Amino acid sequence: MPLLHAEDVTVAFGGRRALDRVSLAAEAGRVTGLIGPNGAGKSTLFDVVCGLRRPQTGRIRLDGRDITREGPARRARRGMSRTFQHLELFGRLSVRDNLLVAAELGPERRHADRTADEVLARTGLTDVADDPADALPTGLARLVEVGRALVLRPRVLLLDEPAAGQDPEETERFAVLLRSLAADGTAVLLVEHDMSLVMTVCDEVYVLDLGKVVACGPPARIRHDETVLAAYLGEERP
Ligand code: ADP
Ligand code: MG
Repeated sequence: MPLLHAEDVTVAFGGRRALDRVSLAAEAGRVTGLIGPNGAGKSTLFDVVCGLRRPQTGRIRLDGRDITREGPARRARRGMSRTFQHLELFGRLSVRDNLLVAAELGPERRHADRTADEVLARTGLTDVADDPADALPTGLARLVEVGRALVLRPRVLLLDEPAAGQDPEETERFAVLLRSLAADGTAVLLVEHDMSLVMTVCDEVYVLDLGKVVACGPPARIRHDETVLAAYLGEERP
């Protein structure tokens, strides 16, 4: 049984289906990629998974339990944590305080300082821990978002374009971090446009186009899939 299972999810905005009977499974200990052109429905699926949007059809299961009717706070307590495509940091707070604010709500709130420092080290943010978040270049600011998700010690980690704005060296370090999180048993769900990152770190990749899953499988297969190439015509090819 997958740790996270989205089954048959439909979301319509007005008459248009942003998601049309989408199913996706994310396993503990694996990095699951979710790719597709802009507007494919990736962020909308994240919203449904973490409880920010009710789907018109379908259900979300965590460990087999149906959590479709639970709100985002409840799901967070069950071990779901996400980052946003549009950065949502406390700009005037230091990097460490951004992590502390989250850590003080999490399962390790009794030693939030220790947790924050450990995550700062793990994400490579220790050197900028005292800088205000809005002073950071985008690549590092995205890592702060990831760090803030990590202090909650998630079992399911949803990352929405976390590498946007990273330079190649940062992305390489980020790939190592993602693999180490999976090695710890986390189910990582990764939305990302950087195809070389996706193909390097993912165990399995889902391809969304116009709200439908058009392909799913290991990166080596997805890279050569005709449907995928068609979905990406005019965009960067995987
Ligand atoms: P992606 O993250 O893959 O780029 P999104 O999930 O953001 O795609 O969007 C999927 C589709 O749903 C797009 O056509 C987008 O315009 C539409 N959409 C997303 N959010 C809303 C909303 N709040 N209201 C109306 N349409 C929306
Ligand atoms: Mg998006």
